[in-house]
Amino acid sequence: MTGSAPDIILETRDVSRHFGSQAAWFGEKRVVRAVDGVSLAVRRGETLAVVGESGCGKSTLARLLVRLIRPTAGEVLYEGRDIGGLSEREMRGLRRDLQFVFQDPFSSLNPRMTVGTLVEEPLRVHGMGSRAERRRRVDALLQRVGLRPEFADRYPHEFSGGQRQRIGIARALASGPKVVIGDEPVSALDVSIQAQVINLLEDLKDEFKLTLILIAHDLAVIRHMSDRVAVMYLGEIVELAETEELFARPLHPYTQALLRAIPVPTPHRRAAAAGVKGDVPSPLAPPAGCRFHTRCPLATALCSATKPDFADAGGGRFVACHYWQQAAAAAPAPHAEAHRTAAAQRRFALYRDRSEQQERLRTAAAAGPTTT
Ligand code: SF4
Repeated sequence: MTGSAPDIILETRDVSRHFGSQAAWFGEKRVVRAVDGVSLAVRRGETLAVVGESGCGKSTLARLLVRLIRPTAGEVLYEGRDIGGLSEREMRGLRRDLQFVFQDPFSSLNPRMTVGTLVEEPLRVHGMGSRAERRRRVDALLQRVGLRPEFADRYPHEFSGGQRQRIGIARALASGPKVVIGDEPVSALDVSIQAQVINLLEDLKDEFKLTLILIAHDLAVIRHMSDRVAVMYLGEIVELAETEELFARPLHPYTQALLRAIPVPTPHRRAAAAGVKGDVPSPLAPPAGCRFHTRCPLATALCSATKPDFADAGGGRFVACHYWQQAAAAAPAPHAEAHRTAAAQRRFALYRDRSEQQERLRTAAAAGPTTT
């Protein structure tokens, strides 16, 4: 699936996660198919983005990858080892390597613990270093994410959203992980703060030699940060491609619609900026055949009867559509540059210059806990 034997660090094989649901009137047990038969290989050192509409299963997939939840079926392999069947004790060692940055840093940080205790906790859990060594590591991590070491004695509520996310990132990095999964790590932040956190994540990825899996819906963030993109729809991956390839020539009608939905500020393109039509069907009863057929402008009888394979489209690309060649040929040019609107450019250009970024981090470190 991934071409000429890339170094795979994390992999799902036909993995599913279903949740039980009791129907209100008839007592009939129904099943929410949050993730359904996903096979995905994550290359060591890459940034892989998983994108899709709300409710498509991307956050459930993220939790499966670090075994915050267990799969209903299929396997999740970390460095070739199936982690689904490991005991909690066996899993504890692996949790050093697999860390998670949550969307909402406020609810993910225990409000009764000081920042120092929160960042130190993974070190303590994994028995890493003496108390003094752990304290030094906490200070260094706080500084690295742009916070002053003396903030260690304060509590999460004393910080702004951007600072709390920096604390969450420092905590995720404490144990020296190999893989970090960010579940919408900037979507709860003010736009003016997002670029700082995104660029911090990028720098830390290089510095700590991380593999980064980014769950996101903001296509500007995805194109800025990721090497490859997996597009999810109703619990399934429908397209996988190198980022630039996907934005330049999306093959799946759903991907094409997602890209067309990016707001474009130029009036002559506004009319073409229609996104995905209709509502996402219920994951309690996903459509038969291709799950996108109820919303797809190219759907035929074949689509509603037969599920398309997740097929090799060449060049390291995979797509689940019976008619992807026709879709790719017939689609109007997507707004390939839409995510690079002036506003998007400004968001990310702000901190591209490393020396400027370092200066900003120094400024942030010198600031009090009510600044970003
Ligand atoms: Fe549309 Fe059919 Fe392709 Fe599904 S298989 S995306 S319904 S054309």
